[in-house]
Amino acid sequence: MEQLLCSKGFSQFYDVLQEEAYGIEAVDIQMKKALPFVADEIHLGRMITELFAPSSVYDPKGKEICTEIFCLPDGYENTPQIESFQTAENGKVIITAYPRKGYVWNEAERKAIHFLAQNIYCVCGRARLMGLMRQATVTDSMTGVANTDGFMQFGGRLQAMGQLSQYEGLFINIKNFKYINQSVGARVGDKILFLYCQRISEFLSSDEILARLGGDNFVALIKKERQDEILSFLSDVQIEAELDSGDSQIFHLRAKIGIYLTGEEDTMGQVMNGVTVAYNMAKHSVNHDFVWFRPQMMEQTMHDKEISIIFPQAIENEEFIVYYQPKVTLSDNRLCGCEALVRWIREGKVVPPMEFIPVLEREGSVCDLDFYVFEHVCRDIRKWLDQNMEPVRVSVNFSKVHLHNQKLAEDILRILKRYDIDSTYIEIELTEMSGYEDFEALSEFVKCMKENGIHTSIDDFGTGYSSLNLLKDLNVDVIKLDRSFLNHIEQRNKPDEIVIKNIVHMINELNMEVIAEGVETSEQMEFLKDVNCHMAQGFLFDKPLPLDDYESRLTNDRVYEVQI
Ligand code: C2E
Ligand code: MG
Ligand code: MG
Repeated sequence: MEQLLCSKGFSQFYDVLQEEAYGIEAVDIQMKKALPFVADEIHLGRMITELFAPSSVYDPKGKEICTEIFCLPDGYENTPQIESFQTAENGKVIITAYPRKGYVWNEAERKAIHFLAQNIYCVCGRARLMGLMRQATVTDSMTGVANTDGFMQFGGRLQAMGQLSQYEGLFINIKNFKYINQSVGARVGDKILFLYCQRISEFLSSDEILARLGGDNFVALIKKERQDEILSFLSDVQIEAELDSGDSQIFHLRAKIGIYLTGEEDTMGQVMNGVTVAYNMAKHSVNHDFVWFRPQMMEQTMHDKEISIIFPQAIENEEFIVYYQPKVTLSDNRLCGCEALVRWIREGKVVPPMEFIPVLEREGSVCDLDFYVFEHVCRDIRKWLDQNMEPVRVSVNFSKVHLHNQKLAEDILRILKRYDIDSTYIEIELTEMSGYEDFEALSEFVKCMKENGIHTSIDDFGTGYSSLNLLKDLNVDVIKLDRSFLNHIEQRNKPDEIVIKNIVHMINELNMEVIAEGVETSEQMEFLKDVNCHMAQGFLFDKPLPLDDYESRLTNDRVYEVQI
């Protein structure tokens, strides 16, 4: 055997094996090249390799490959020597060797065959491992589709071949996936994501690609001419998954999608930017799930970015100030409360909240702003109390983004305590919401505020979707009717009047307070009195006032004279 190993044929055989090979198929090709160098010396007639590999995410179906890697044309003796080896992931490699026709291997040759098979097994293992490693760097381990690197490589190749402009990019996010995950548990949630990817991959053709960025965020490159059918498919992907209980459930996965139509000169970087910007628009759009990129969106994004970059410094510089807008009781036109409304004094100009609050809501820092306002309000109330200026209840706007903060109530109570302020001076305004998930957090928060004697109100009531359920199920103290309700009151528009009248009636019956926002005319005021709406806020009485002006309202006789 030693003689055999030192032979020229064997050294040539090993030279070929040293060549790089990735994946078992590549090894088989290599073997076919290498074996003829030793076949004569070991009297080999035929050799086959069989691989039994269990499934993995990289290869969900598992593998059974049987390849003939050597065979002499004039036949072989059917007295095989079978060598079997275990692979690391519980698979098997079986190598079967047959002597050439009319030959019987002696003991030394049998040992040589065994040794040869061991070598082949080692090379197979190394190549499979290298193949898997190479694949792992471009594959998402949970779903088996490409990862970001795989996506960029795929797109990069299209770009290099000048074919990228035949494609459009998609940024896909599953709507409400967080809640599906919460309700079925993470294990089933992962399975749903896996099946979702499989379904989409089956729908895509081999020259298209889906990749997972992480969580429930995906990107895809699809052929432009297939846009309609693919978007229609993605608008409702049905997945049947087995729950922990053993029952199956069908999930309708709908998506928010940002779309970028590539141009001739585009790079993959531009595609990624474009889909992300378009997706951000889709994410915040109430009416549209699919949004196509437009260049103007870039300006909006830059504007948003600029605000979020300068915001922390602006807070630090105390560039935000609190205005107070009085609320009045309609029976006697007396000041009965006020709303704190923030203003940004930027380079000498007053910036209204609608120019920056939506941006801060999108990226979460609105919470810092709300607490800043709340703290300033507490500070002002403390000052009024110390100066014997009896305050009225101040309502402070809290964005719904806060509902993700489980310590929200605790944080509010701590600040109140720090300024030693009675809870009756504070009201928390929250905007109407639609999803039940928001509702649960909202309901919990309202309950906690109530237990601590703090009023809560639903702001802009009538602009969301679940108004009536909110009234019924949420134990808030005050409902603020959105000012759009008053739009047609001057014309004494019957349907509008009927709606307001009955809503006010219902709120009164439920023992909640009701206040109308945006009251601008005495006709509106008279109408509100007629329908038993007891409070109002609006330009008819006062605009939002800077601190000094508001303080003079507190110190004067607090009654408004309104011309009818
Ligand atoms: P909102 O909470 O519904 O506040 C009422 C808005 O209506 C205020 O706009 C007020 O100036 C305006 N308004 C009051 N009376 C009248 C009227 O008679 N006619 C008209 N046309 N408008 C009237 P503003 O101050 O521009 O605030 C806009 C929104 O910005 C607020 O709506 C609120 O949602 C948000 N906001 C303001 N301050 C804060 C804050 O500190 N935190 C948060 N999260 N949001 C805030
Ligand atoms: Mg408000
Ligand atoms: Mg409002």
